[in-house]
Amino acid sequence: MPGDEHCILHIPKHPKCDACQRAKSQKRQCRRRHPEEELVCDKRATKFGEVITFDHIVTLDPAAMSVEGDANALTIKDLGTGWIECCPTSSKTEEATIAVLQQFIGPKEKVELAYTDGADELRLACNALKWRQRVATPGRPQTNGVVERTNRLILEGARTLLSQARMDKKWWSRAVRCFCLQYNASRRGMDGDTPQRKRLGYDFLGRLLPFGSLVHYIPSTKKSTAAGEKFGTTTRPGLFMGYRLHTGFMWSKDYLVLDLEAFRNNSAGKYVPILRVEKIHKKRWKAGVSKRRSTG
Ligand SMILES: [Zn+2]
Repeated sequence: MPGDEHCILHIPKHPKCDACQRAKSQKRQCRRRHPEEELVCDKRATKFGEVITFDHIVTLDPAAMSVEGDANALTIKDLGTGWIECCPTSSKTEEATIAVLQQFIGPKEKVELAYTDGADELRLACNALKWRQRVATPGRPQTNGVVERTNRLILEGARTLLSQARMDKKWWSRAVRCFCLQYNASRRGMDGDTPQRKRLGYDFLGRLLPFGSLVHYIPSTKKSTAAGEKFGTTTRPGLFMGYRLHTGFMWSKDYLVLDLEAFRNNSAGKYVPILRVEKIHKKRWKAGVSKRRSTG
């Protein structure tokens, strides 16, 4: 069976991993020429912001709106560092696109060239941000291939994470963000560096855990602490959902968890609040957790 390290990204596909077998397309695997095919970075650019490319993707299932009401997502890739991002949005408007792009760029960073397929909302967003832009040649899909490969990588990654966590598709908005952060933090290019190290110059400081892992967390609100005391402990079991992010999609040093009891009791399918916590302790993550998973 694959170890925890494989279960962070599920790259490459593992013949004995149930999640890989359930969620990954056989056809696409056969097409891969090389494990590095997803191109961790691109030779044409060497630093963050030199060339970025972005596009909207539809969700895993067009009918599956996320738990937070997102129907679309904007995928972004920085070609110099290989940094990828997927930001769920409620609409594909110019305003929503601008908001995501502004969040993607850190306070001291700038974009020199933006590469898109020329869709109106993307073009207008570049104009509003005063970014130099280049549009893919119509009828030549390979000119926009980088972002299309990134879309496939992220969607397949999110599907696999949801499959391993045995969570409903509507949690896709959390799975894509967790996948991207852990990809940036751990996926090494041909030169041995991660996108995180190339963009920021240091390694990721948090813990990398499989999405949906059972963890124990210390509640930070009075209400949750009282609930914790009821069980005679200061920690509560939860499910690891990823990381809270700052501008630039950088980690704020808080983890995101779902309280396990709240999640399991949620048979009505209501939104279960995602909690921000400073510390998590990993327990186990396969046995026991998936027995009575509600769909949240
Ligand atoms: Zn796998």
